[in-house]
Amino acid sequence: MHCVHTVPIIACAALLAACATGGVENRGVGNERWWDELPLPEWQAFTPVDVDDDWFEVYRLSDDLFAIYEPGQFELVISYLIIGNDKALLFDTGLGIGDIRRVVEALTDREVLVLNSHSHYDHVGDNHRFDEVLGLDNAYSRASSLGRGRAELAEFIGPGWVWKDFPAGFVPDEYVGRPYAITRIVRDGDRIDLGGRVLEVLETPGHAPDALCLLDREHRQLFTGDTFYLAPLYAHLPGSDPDTYARTAARLAALQPEVDTLVTAHNVPFADSAFLGRLRNAFISMAAGTSEFVVTDGNREYDFGAFSIIVPDDNPTIPTSEIPQ
Ligand SMILES: [Zn+2]
Repeated sequence: MHCVHTVPIIACAALLAACATGGVENRGVGNERWWDELPLPEWQAFTPVDVDDDWFEVYRLSDDLFAIYEPGQFELVISYLIIGNDKALLFDTGLGIGDIRRVVEALTDREVLVLNSHSHYDHVGDNHRFDEVLGLDNAYSRASSLGRGRAELAEFIGPGWVWKDFPAGFVPDEYVGRPYAITRIVRDGDRIDLGGRVLEVLETPGHAPDALCLLDREHRQLFTGDTFYLAPLYAHLPGSDPDTYARTAARLAALQPEVDTLVTAHNVPFADSAFLGRLRNAFISMAAGTSEFVVTDGNREYDFGAFSIIVPDDNPTIPTSEIPQ
């Protein structure tokens, strides 16, 4: 359903083919051993935290922000633990291969609220381990909460996808998306007060119908989930919508003066907020037909340097006039 890697490492067109077809065999021609490129050097800037766990890597990004990273699987997904004076918020729960709750409990004794950047399998895997899961009142979110079967997920732990040993107790043949309960509805504009740290919910559909970002105005950070990271951005998946994504990009670009740092869900934690403007401009140039693209397996990939955008080749139209300036 979803695979991501940094642009410089992977031959993106080939990677695109693997993603689009859900192919098992190929995550990039010449990149069958993608893990040879790890560790990504950007992580050296952060302080590792020993949580006595072989599956997750944890980094302290600031006093009250931890990155919980899963470099053992191709998605290189990152979940974030944001700690307030009263409560903590876990923004995504990862793949569900390791036990992220155990890691979280080693990092904080606060009550933990879970909220997902969106409900693709690599962001909700351990939701089932938590009592309090916030979510949008959204058909896609509700469907995802019912879980995903083995057939849908088996390839993502198959050959070429995972290089680390699985954690003790994990049974690959039993890997499914476990169902979970959404216990509290959140909406666009809601403010989640953790005590001394307030996170504002922004609904940002496009990559997924239930995509959302979290804005921390005081710290000038925007947690972007999969709406932005420094790699191919997916507007071609089932449930993705390029038009909607373009409008989301315009909305986020308007926030750029209020944000310094984007905190992203794959590969590396931080990106400069200048990318919000570049993302909007990318959609505008795609709509205007002024950007180059390559077609692979029914999808177009538009290259914008540090990121790219993938849309279906049969329905790529993004009306320029409808993208707010
Ligand atoms: Zn996703």
